[in-house]
Amino acid sequence: MGISLENVSYIYQAGTPFEGRALFELTTTIKDGSYTAFIGHTGSGKSTLVNLLLRIYNAPEGSIYIDGKDIMKATVQSVREHIAYVPQDNFLFSDTIASNIAFGADHLTKEQIEEAARKADVHRNIMDFPEQYDTVVGERGTTLSGGQKQRVSIARALILDAPILILDDSLSAVDTKTEELILENLKEVREGKTNIIIAHRISTVRHADHIVVLEEGRVAEHGNHESLLEMQGIYADMYEKQQLEEELSEA
Ligand code: ADP
Ligand code: MG
Repeated sequence: MGISLENVSYIYQAGTPFEGRALFELTTTIKDGSYTAFIGHTGSGKSTLVNLLLRIYNAPEGSIYIDGKDIMKATVQSVREHIAYVPQDNFLFSDTIASNIAFGADHLTKEQIEEAARKADVHRNIMDFPEQYDTVVGERGTTLSGGQKQRVSIARALILDAPILILDDSLSAVDTKTEELILENLKEVREGKTNIIIAHRISTVRHADHIVVLEEGRVAEHGNHESLLEMQGIYADMYEKQQLEEELSEA
C-alpha cells in the first residue's frame, strides 16, 4: 500500500518551538512495497508524521492518502488495521514475553511467536532466560534492556503481517551489527510490503529505497544514500558527524 502526503501541515495546540508548527506543507510519497526512511534531528517532526498517519492526531482532510484513499474519510479503525506500528517509547505489558509478542493478534502458535522473535533477533536472548518465553516482564518481573524491549516490540509488529510497517526510532538502542541483521530479516519477511523506518542514525536508513530528510517540519532533502551524500547537505553532514563519533568511540 502506497501513501501520499500532500501539503501536510500540523500545529500542536500548546506552544511549541518553530511558531508552534510541527509539520509545514510537507509533501512526499511512500511507494507501495518500498522501504522508505525518514531521518532528522530530534523535533524535526518525524513522530508527528507517524501520529498523523495513524490518526492519533488528525491532519486536514485531503492531505494524507493511503492506497489512494483520504484517511480522513476512513474510520480510525480501518486505517490502523493496515498499519503495524512500533512506537518510539515502546511499551511492554506486565505479562509473559510470549503474550507481549502475540498481543493484538489472535490464534498464534508457539512457532509463529518464535519465528517473529527470530526475525527481530531476540529469540536467543529469550532462550537465555530460565523461563524463556514464559518469562514475565515489566514491573513485577524481569527487566529487559532497552534493546531487548525494542526487539520484542518489533517482533510484535512483525507478527501482524500488515501491509504497512512503521518503526519509529525502534532500533536506536540496538548495536549496529544487530541492527543490520534485523534490517536484513525485514527485507526478507516484508518483501513487497511497505516499510517505513524512522531514525536519527544513518546506519538505520542507508539501505532504504528512498530517504526523506526532515528539518523543522519540512522535507529538506530526499533521495537514496548515495545521492544524498553527493548533495553535501544536511544528510552528508550527519553522516560525517556520525562517522567521526563512531571512530572516536572505537578509539
Ligand atoms: P521528532 O519525532 O522528529 O523528534 P516530533 O514530531 O516529536 O519530532 O516533534 C516535532 C515538534 O512538535 C517539536 O517541536 C515538538 O516539541 C513538538 N511536539 C511534539 N509532540 C508534541 C505535543 N504532544 N504537544 C506539543 N508539541 C509537540
Ligand atoms: Mg520522534
